[in-house]
Amino acid sequence: MRPKIEGLVTKRTHLVVRTRFAPSPTGTLHLGNIRTALFAWAYARHQKGQFVLRIEDTDLERSSDASAEGILRDMAWLGLDIDEGPFFQMQRMDRYREVIAQMLADGRAYHCYMSVEELDQLRDAQKAKGEKPRYDGRWRPENITKFGLKIPAGVDPVVRFRNPDAGAVTWQDAVKGKIEIANSELDDLVIARPAPVGQVGVPTYNFCVVVDDIDMQITHVIRGDGHVMNTPRQINIFHAMGVAPPVFGHTPTVLGNDGEKLSKRHGATGLNEYAAAGFLPEAVINGLARLGWSHGNDEIFSPQQLVEWFNLESLTPSPARFDAEKFEWLNGEHIKRLPIDELAKRLEPFLKEEGYTTSLATGASAERAGTDGVPAPTSLAVAELLRERAPTLKKMAQMARYCFIAPQIDNALLAQHLNDANRAAIAWVSEQLSAIEWSKTALAAMLKEAQTKFSVKTPQVMMPLRVMLTGSAQAPAVDALLLTLGRATATARIRL
Ligand code: GLU
Repeated sequence: MRPKIEGLVTKRTHLVVRTRFAPSPTGTLHLGNIRTALFAWAYARHQKGQFVLRIEDTDLERSSDASAEGILRDMAWLGLDIDEGPFFQMQRMDRYREVIAQMLADGRAYHCYMSVEELDQLRDAQKAKGEKPRYDGRWRPENITKFGLKIPAGVDPVVRFRNPDAGAVTWQDAVKGKIEIANSELDDLVIARPAPVGQVGVPTYNFCVVVDDIDMQITHVIRGDGHVMNTPRQINIFHAMGVAPPVFGHTPTVLGNDGEKLSKRHGATGLNEYAAAGFLPEAVINGLARLGWSHGNDEIFSPQQLVEWFNLESLTPSPARFDAEKFEWLNGEHIKRLPIDELAKRLEPFLKEEGYTTSLATGASAERAGTDGVPAPTSLAVAELLRERAPTLKKMAQMARYCFIAPQIDNALLAQHLNDANRAAIAWVSEQLSAIEWSKTALAAMLKEAQTKFSVKTPQVMMPLRVMLTGSAQAPAVDALLLTLGRATATARIRL
């Protein structure tokens, strides 16, 4: 039996599912990355397990604190709560070095002094022979004499992992099914960059991931399929450490609806852009989950339902296509389903951003009104008025302009809808406003009465009123508009 690495958890101490999200903090979270996080989170939550966040910040040139902070903020916005972490790989360097030192000591790893030039020559020679370029293991201790090698002076060696020579690495991928890679395809991986003997250089990516996944007791690695070719190498390192590898599930890339890799061309790709555009995290979770996972024909579901239903079996191995329009539609559906108080609360910052001052107060006083000194409609009233009409909170806030600012009336547009046939009816409506009970029922009944009294059709009453009240013929029902704007504002706007 292989000697164990000091301090490594070689036995699972509890039978709890532990998943992780391991982003590199090199930019803003992209929809594709966050979907991976979502699947890992949903699986942990479904299994009543734990979800770990690990920031893989070893690429010093490309990593930034701002990006790491953005990742934390985006995950919090989405509601992907973490049980442990964030762990930062840069803070775990001593741990990786400690493990490498042990592996060197017991022969699972060895120093290699081959220079870049020698490696290039070897590769060229292999390619010329039609072979796959790979390191030939010449600095394995038992080969040094065979190759007649002498330790060169002044050269800092790298550390290589002794990969098994024979057999194959096989795993049952939770998404892609059985995958098998022959060990002859894999050479001895560099696990530490050059450093003088006696010191351990900077450990490399594939190695750190394995030490982390062992130390953090990860049971299921769910990640993008760009990592599939790292997995056999990582599995070999797990075995070398005497630890059973976790379950791996590699999710396919998210493509745009044109089948190309998702990029800026397909619209917003950063999660922060969705938050700023007034998407609800519930809708983003729903939309992302549907990219590569399904539960029967369920199209619209809540994060709680996702957690309840989530399983790895229903992840699809074929690439998912992102459709911006569908995402927006889904957001509109979630807006409709949100409890109205909650919608009002979430709309509030978007109204502020448009420069409208409003208050969350619910007091729907009959005399509440709009602009110019009279109190503005509450965000609750605005949400009630527009919840069926706006696909995002931002668009809802933009649509709400006429609730706060008197619209510019396009006379040509008004003339299209107001003429001798309906002028008297509108004048009558205008007169009614001063004394009528300010309730939706009373207002609706009054508008109906105008139609019978003046023998005009519904649009003949509604369309000119919409234009006068909002500046546009595309507007909500007039009774709802009147109620929201309040008596004073409505009266001021309906003038003949
Ligand atoms: N840091 C890697 C990435 O952002 C993820 C590695 C992993 O999940 O194993 O692609």
